[in-house]
Amino acid sequence: MKFFTPTRIYFEPQALEYPLGKQIYEYYTKENIPLIITPSHNRVTGIPGKTPQAGYREAKRTLVVGVKKNLTLDTCRPSADYQFSLGTSCPGGCQYCYLATTLGRKPYIRVYVNIDEILEAVEKYINKNSPKITSFEAASTSDPLAVEHITGSLQKTIAFFGRQQNGRLRVVSKFSAVDGLLMVKHNSHTKFRFSINTDFIIKSYEANTATFQERLNAAGKMARAGYPLGFIIAPLFIYEGWRKDYRELLRLLAEELGPAARRGLTFELISHRFTARAKKIIMERFPRTTLEMDETKRKLKWGKYGYGKYMYPPEQLEKLKSYMIREITTVFPEAEIEYFT
Ligand code: SF4
Repeated sequence: MKFFTPTRIYFEPQALEYPLGKQIYEYYTKENIPLIITPSHNRVTGIPGKTPQAGYREAKRTLVVGVKKNLTLDTCRPSADYQFSLGTSCPGGCQYCYLATTLGRKPYIRVYVNIDEILEAVEKYINKNSPKITSFEAASTSDPLAVEHITGSLQKTIAFFGRQQNGRLRVVSKFSAVDGLLMVKHNSHTKFRFSINTDFIIKSYEANTATFQERLNAAGKMARAGYPLGFIIAPLFIYEGWRKDYRELLRLLAEELGPAARRGLTFELISHRFTARAKKIIMERFPRTTLEMDETKRKLKWGKYGYGKYMYPPEQLEKLKSYMIREITTVFPEAEIEYFT
């Protein structure tokens, strides 16, 4: 896939005090991309787009280079002990993006240039918990692989975790530019997961991300580079032909990975759900969407934060679950299915 090139880049002044900030500034000056100094990412003005669709589209072409100030890490159960971020948002246009309700109307892409400070903070958490292993999720507010060609931060982070006896990293991506990660000394301390779906779903709802085939090839490369590997199949949809399509997805995965790479493989399975708020945002941004969000066909489940999620009804959920588990265990008998939700 083509590497993401921003249409415009905002810089927080402090970002230019860091080598990575300067490097990005100098590179894009030569590329003739408009560079704008902004007092803070909260005060970014001038991203065009009067309608929600246009605002969203333009925001996804806008990069904000800044500094991560709050270095206190949040917990991230059950996936990891803590999460930290190398940025927020991504250039992808997934209609059901899990960040849709948290990033506001203009989900511009942020990257943080104080990577050394971020990793120092991570190290403190590792040391505090030592000799126990502490795990960290690095992709809960962004897709770091999508902007790796701009920052190189993921490479640095993976190498950092490679040196940590008691730290482990988890990353997930819908992108495929992994070549720069293949030679990194990861020491098997980074678990790389690809978020995948059927070819039909990716083509229909995940604009500007890697294709199914590209993700497959990237997974094969990462497996051959010795990374512990996993797949998040999400969101799982029931649509005409879903059984055949998910079976085909697994068959192609098995073909790409070969027997050696299948050991230690994990799967995380997440069925499609939506909230009223997410539906409203999706309908504003993608008014002609074919995404199935009919409340009358779903079961409302109240979450602990006081808002409801429209899930598939229990009998359909069970159908989805048993089919996926049966198919995965047939094709990948050694794999672990971490959860279905
Ligand atoms: S790739 Fe991930 S972060 Fe980017 S739009 Fe899609 S779901 Fe959101």
